[in-house]
Amino acid sequence: MGQVILTFDVEQDCPPFASSTRGMEEGLPLVMDLLEDSGIKGTFLFTGRMAEKFPELARRAAKKHELGCHGLEHERFDRLPGEEVRRRLSEAREILSRFGKVVSFRAPNFQFPDDHYPILKELGFLVDSTKAKHKGWRRGVTEISGLLEVPATTTSIVTRLPWTLQKPFHKRFEDPIVYIFHPWEFVRMSKRLRPDCWFGTGKSALENLRRLIEFHISRDAEFLTLREFYHEYQKLKREGEL
Ligand SMILES: [Zn+2]
Repeated sequence: MGQVILTFDVEQDCPPFASSTRGMEEGLPLVMDLLEDSGIKGTFLFTGRMAEKFPELARRAAKKHELGCHGLEHERFDRLPGEEVRRRLSEAREILSRFGKVVSFRAPNFQFPDDHYPILKELGFLVDSTKAKHKGWRRGVTEISGLLEVPATTTSIVTRLPWTLQKPFHKRFEDPIVYIFHPWEFVRMSKRLRPDCWFGTGKSALENLRRLIEFHISRDAEFLTLREFYHEYQKLKREGEL
């Protein structure tokens, strides 16, 4: 038994190195098909711009999974003043709210200064998953300025390794395991880009995701969205078990 949260940062292809949207057009529908066929919900953190450009996918995420926020246009929030952070997040939230209630957030490039967390709270977000264990975060699940912080467990480079090489990692990860994927990983990306933009992309990425899901099903893991994890956490807290 364990808890697994599959998150997808839904953005243009490998930002800022490409600006195409093949991942949105060809990759994301395949991923959603796989999850729905497996009876699993994912957390799809869209940029506002991708939701505007692909409203059907945003609607599908809100209806069958969880729709969350990944900024307005994949900006670096650590390089913007507070007022601009608030303006961009409000706009993203306004766009995403057309499809359903949005409570989860992850900043692009794992960059969101602690000083900005009250802005998330003010805008009605409940959960953040910007902190990352592979970026040195050691505190596990915690609360920051009234938001539940559910740190990411591992980089998507690990989940693009050949299955036999990545499998040992999955056995060692601590709960809750928060995976991060991107739509563009599920299409074959050009080798003219940096290696981390094309390594392991394409059909093999989808096959690896299928194996990852099977692996966690075989160990009776519970698949949750970020919002579901938030509600479980609050319930345990109320019952005094945390
Ligand atoms: Zn991103």
